[in-house]
Amino acid sequence: MQYSLVIIAYLIAAVLFILSLGGLSKQETARRGNTMGIVGMLLALLAAVCSDGVSLYGWLVLAMIPAVIIGAILAARVQMTQMPQLVALLHSFVGAAAVLVGFASYLDPHAEMTVAETTVHSIEIFLGVGVGAITFTGSIIACLKLHGSMSGNPLILPARHLLNLLILLITLGLGVWFVLSHDPSVGLVPLIIAAILTALFGVHMVMAIGGADMPVVVSMLNSYSGWAAAAAGFMLGNDLLIITGALVGSSGAILSLIMCRGMNRSFISVILGGFGTDGGGSGSGSSDEPQGDVTSIEADVAADLMRNAKTVVIVPGYGMAVAQAQHALAEVVKKLRDAGVEVRFAIHPVAGRLPGHMNVLLAEANVPYDIVLEMDEINGELPETDLALVIGANDIVNPSAETDPHSPIAGMPVLQVWNSRDVIMMKRGMASGYAGVGNPLFFHENTSMLFGDAKDNIDRINAALGN
Ligand code: NDP
Repeated sequence: MQYSLVIIAYLIAAVLFILSLGGLSKQETARRGNTMGIVGMLLALLAAVCSDGVSLYGWLVLAMIPAVIIGAILAARVQMTQMPQLVALLHSFVGAAAVLVGFASYLDPHAEMTVAETTVHSIEIFLGVGVGAITFTGSIIACLKLHGSMSGNPLILPARHLLNLLILLITLGLGVWFVLSHDPSVGLVPLIIAAILTALFGVHMVMAIGGADMPVVVSMLNSYSGWAAAAAGFMLGNDLLIITGALVGSSGAILSLIMCRGMNRSFISVILGGFGTDGGGSGSGSSDEPQGDVTSIEADVAADLMRNAKTVVIVPGYGMAVAQAQHALAEVVKKLRDAGVEVRFAIHPVAGRLPGHMNVLLAEANVPYDIVLEMDEINGELPETDLALVIGANDIVNPSAETDPHSPIAGMPVLQVWNSRDVIMMKRGMASGYAGVGNPLFFHENTSMLFGDAKDNIDRINAALGN
């Protein structure tokens, strides 16, 4: 394919990616945004495959066919609750690709370059390999933590900041050695050592982050994977990869800041790690676990409370995703609204295990968008609410974030459901949430616990509400 045609295809794909991001920012246009992204990616792939630089089609087919099959099977099989770890795993592939592209483009210099060009290219390679290695190992650790194969608590090594600083300084030194050595057999040594060191840094950085700080890690690694892709674009001289990488990198960075704001944490304190440990010690959770008597109710009583309320606010959390209760819940909501009850959903920015997790589930169940409100929009209205129904949520409704300055989640904005007249909490037992922090809301006077799987209980409520 002619070079100019490839460039035009890349430009159209870049515009489609930008429109896709714009579309994804609103629920009403998300589907269209997704389609634009898919079309843009197909166009980009076609243009790249047909460009003059590609000739070994046999190898390409050999790599692409199994990849397409594995990708399709994974996408078809993955449960919504496993999405965060899948996303983290996909980020690790981008990191690994950047490392491999870096080594390949160093070992196979195909064009004659001036000294200045070689220096710039060497810097691109070093940055690409470094950012790629951090993204690769950091994402694998995040994936294991989110999957539960590794403890979600932060692992705090003694003198960890010193260790990080040391790694950073050594890596900088290796970078200077690498850029100044123009003989590939010499330059390979600092490049390999830097790849190993930055990979270790990725492991150490994400191991130290845990608890309620994990959402920021997921979006931060998303951002890193974008910068790794952009670095690969520079190494390969591929404009579209640079644009796409920059889009992913900057949108991931903006999302990280939004998540930090949602949790009232500074980005730096999240990156430095140690959630809930006050910079030392280990584990999370307050030493004074909340205690008291709980009021337990059955589904038919919950159905009565809902039927007799004028206003109901539903707070979905990770447990709703686990139970896959959204479709049954949508039916309950329809019945209540038909009976004249005002029902609204309250969405916390870090509910679930993925940014936008709850919005996706509710959209899947065709819950009308106009009754789905964000935390800031609904918190002021909770004192006038008759009933708050908390379904599989825990950390995001924990009052100790506001009342206990020693709580690991102190200062995190939460949905103040306790201000409503009655609260029903649906969960299986007394377990704490992802942050591992006890929740005094279980013992509040106006809280009733409806124990059991959320889907089973919603089905019972549905039956009790009748047709
Ligand atoms: P939590 O993890 O705080 O609580 C979920 C609750 O759901 C648990 O306490 C559990 O209690 C209950 N549950 C689990 N399964 C079921 C079921 N089948 N039926 C009924 N209840 C169930 O979730 P939240 O959504 O409140 O908060 C999100 C947490 O995850 C925050 O700490 C956030 O920082 C973190 N996080 C968020 C990410 C994001 O991007 N949104 C990413 C990574 C982490 P029990 O076992 O007793 O049933």
